[in-house]
Amino acid sequence: MPDRLHARASHATVLVIDPSLADRAQICECLNQLPDIKVIAAGEAELALQIVREARPSMILLDSAQKGIDGISLTRSIRSWEQAGSNAAYAPWTPIVFLSSVNDENLLAQGILAGGDDFICKPVSEVVLLAKVRAMLRIAARQREICDVHRQLKDIATLDSLTGIPNRRYFDDTLAAEWKRCLRTETPLSIVLSDVDFFKQFNDIYGHQAGDACLKAVASTLSESLFRVEDSVARYGGEEFVAILPGTDASGAYAVAERMRQSARELCIPHERGIGGQLSCSFGVASTHPRADKAPQQLLRFADAGLYAAKRAGRNRVEINSDVVGCN
Ligand code: GH3
Ligand code: MG
Ligand code: MG
Repeated sequence: MPDRLHARASHATVLVIDPSLADRAQICECLNQLPDIKVIAAGEAELALQIVREARPSMILLDSAQKGIDGISLTRSIRSWEQAGSNAAYAPWTPIVFLSSVNDENLLAQGILAGGDDFICKPVSEVVLLAKVRAMLRIAARQREICDVHRQLKDIATLDSLTGIPNRRYFDDTLAAEWKRCLRTETPLSIVLSDVDFFKQFNDIYGHQAGDACLKAVASTLSESLFRVEDSVARYGGEEFVAILPGTDASGAYAVAERMRQSARELCIPHERGIGGQLSCSFGVASTHPRADKAPQQLLRFADAGLYAAKRAGRNRVEINSDVVGCN
C-alpha cells in the first residue's frame, strides 16, 4: 500500500517516489507546508506507476539515482502510458522533477530526454523544493485548464448542439479515416443513411419544439441501436442521420439498419400523418470494400440512392443498393 502521508482538501496531488523511507518522509513533511495539496508517496516503481494511472497526480518528484528505482526507465514508462491513452491529446503533461544526490550533468540530460522536466540536488533545500513545486504546480494547473478548454472546443466542433450526437464534421472526418483503415485492413465498410418520414408535417402539426424533442429521441435511439465500439451515428443534417459501420458487410449493415428502423418505431411517437399514426424513419444502406481508385463519397451516394428507393417504396423501410453490393 502507498504510504498516503497526508491528504487535505485536494486541488493538486504530488507523488513522491523515493526508495528511502527516511527521505520520503522528509520530503513529504516539507511538502505538507504547502496549502491545499495532497501528497502521496511510493517506494518502488511498480506501485508508483499504479498510482500515476489511478490518482493522476499533478506532478511527480522522483529520486532518479538511488538503488531500487531506475528513474529514467520509470519516466519513460510514465510518458508512454500518458501518450497511449485514447484521450492523450487532451491529457495534461505531468511535470516530473528528479531528485538526485549525484550532481551529474549527463544524468540530468538523460532524465530530460526521457521526459523529465527539472532536477533538484539532494540534500534538498526546503526553500528550493517548495519554490520549485509551487512553480510546477502553477504550470500544471494552467495546463489542465488549457486541456479542458481544448476538450470542450473539440466537443463543440464535433458534436451536434441539438441532439448531442456527433455532427456532420465528425462524420466527414470519420468516414475518410475509416475508408483508409478498411482499405489497409482489406475489410468491408458500410454506411446507413436515415431520414425521418413526413417530418415537415410533424413540425407543422405539433410545432418546432416538439420536432426538436423528436429529433433528440430519434438520435438517441439510433445511437443505442449500435453495439460495436467502432460503430458511430452522426446527425447528417436536418432530420437525417448517418451511421458508419467499419468491418461490417452488406448483410450485417442491413441487419443493423433494420434494428435502427425498429428502434425508431418503438419510440411510439404519435404522428397523425405518419405511417400507422406513428413516427417512422426510412433507411438506405451501402456497403463496399474500399479501393484506392474510389472515394468514400461514392458510398454515400449509393446510400442516398437506397434511401430514395425506401421513400419511393412507401417509407418506414430499409433498402440496400444492389449496385454497391455488386461492386464489392
Ligand atoms: P420525407 O418523408 O420525404 O422525408 O418528408 P419530410 O417532410 O420528412 O421531408 P422534407 O425534406 O420535406 O422536410 C424535412 C423537415 O425537417 C423540414 C424541416 O423544417 C425539418 N427540420 C430540419 N431540421 C430540423 C430541426 O433541427 N428541428 C426541427 N424541429 N425540424 C427540422
Ligand atoms: Mg430529409
Ligand atoms: Mg424526411
